Amino acid sequence: MYYQVMSGIVLGVEGSLVRVEVDASNGMPYFSMVGYLSSEVKEAKDRVISALRSVSFPLPPKRITVNLSPADIRKAGSSFDFPIAVAILGSFELFPIQQLKDAFLAGEMSLEGVIRPVRGLLPMILEAKKHGLKKCFVPKANQKELVGIQGIDIYPVATLKEMLDHLRGYQTINRLEPKKFKAGKKPVYPDFSEVKGQYQIKRALEIAAAGRHNVLIIGPSGCGKSMLARCLIGVLPKLDQEELQEVRAIYSARGLSYENAGYPPVRNPHHSVSPSAFLGGGTHLNAGEITLAHDGILLLDEFSEFKKTCIEGLREPMENHNIAISRVGKQYVFPSDFMVVATTNPCPCGNYPDRTKCKCTVSQRIHYRKKVSRPVLERFDMILWAEPVAFEDFDDDSIDSDTISKRILYGRNRQKLRYEKESFSYNSRIPNDKIDEVCNFDDDTKTFMKTIFQQKELSMREFYHMLKVSRTIADLSGEEQISIEHVAEAASFYNRGMELE
Ligand SMILES: [Zn+2]
Repeated sequence: MYYQVMSGIVLGVEGSLVRVEVDASNGMPYFSMVGYLSSEVKEAKDRVISALRSVSFPLPPKRITVNLSPADIRKAGSSFDFPIAVAILGSFELFPIQQLKDAFLAGEMSLEGVIRPVRGLLPMILEAKKHGLKKCFVPKANQKELVGIQGIDIYPVATLKEMLDHLRGYQTINRLEPKKFKAGKKPVYPDFSEVKGQYQIKRALEIAAAGRHNVLIIGPSGCGKSMLARCLIGVLPKLDQEELQEVRAIYSARGLSYENAGYPPVRNPHHSVSPSAFLGGGTHLNAGEITLAHDGILLLDEFSEFKKTCIEGLREPMENHNIAISRVGKQYVFPSDFMVVATTNPCPCGNYPDRTKCKCTVSQRIHYRKKVSRPVLERFDMILWAEPVAFEDFDDDSIDSDTISKRILYGRNRQKLRYEKESFSYNSRIPNDKIDEVCNFDDDTKTFMKTIFQQKELSMREFYHMLKVSRTIADLSGEEQISIEHVAEAASFYNRGMELE
């Protein structure tokens, strides 16, 4: 007879449901599988036939057709073994067939019928839930990744035999308790009080973290710019439940587990990273570093040393907060709403402006800085120049990370309240058509902004960034109206310096 169960596949970082249909009829003994299958899926046939023997069910000499639909999506991976085996058992009525109405199944199987873990279960289950499915039978080894999912019952299964016994009522598989997700310890990062001097950069990073602004720090080697970037990670507020679920689904799709105690993800790719590992794509359509940094921080040390394709590839995600990747006539959109903190040297040797150490020529310096093009520079809200640390800075009494993180939280909460009914939650994400509505200032401030615009030869995009940074500065000081001081401070954090040569 005919029987069907629901399974799924991950396309990019999103789950999509796949119907597994089996038809067993009389005729020449035959086993065929159709539905736009990759070679791994075709191999399922041998694993399934062998695993069925483990439940004392040698495949009868019948004409068996397995179809995975929809037929226009290419099915890859090994997660169809388990649903195919169960659908075959169902087509021979080996259990009450109503049992799997509203159920989702996925898992790889060994030849003895042991259910093995698969990647991307979380986005698949979220999709199953969206389609009204009520329960999921998934590999036991994947259960940790699924803790905290509400609204759909999850049954971790160890073997095909256990599953069949459960369906026949001989034994019960226990449902996974839907408790709150809590994994990993709070990551430890250096404290701002450990960095001497660099007051302007510390202040800028505090503002950046509060409004999720992108920052580029240019400075000689040894001035502590990478250390400062790391301090910033330690003061970020935790993600909310919705953000956390999204981040976990992205990691699940990549076959990674997300353990950061609810804090935002931090990705720190090396400058030699390949464009597909950085931006996403490749043979398996994997999420890249910029997607793994979604809702978190993308830390880019030695920014000028990254491949040109990587640097230029940031233009789209820094503007739209996602990246579109085309594959075989289809376009997949990966979320990538991250905050960039990039650091770079001012010249190839890294010692400029110390002329006793730096022997780079003007043209070498210009060439080096032009590795980051103007359109990419324009997408940073703050461009800061770190000075070498002065001797007097060593006995300074810096503010610690704890104090800074409290102030950031205050600034964030003000934004959350203001943007409660909006589709965005941070000042840096204010759409251009909303700027007038949320950035209030008087006529004097307006005149001052005009002067800055002309003096700094800003583009419209850069001007808007500066306005958004001013909004965050006003929020941090608890003011609804943006004043001249706020704009002046925001302007002091934007120094391209390219034209100085
Ligand atoms: Zn140099």
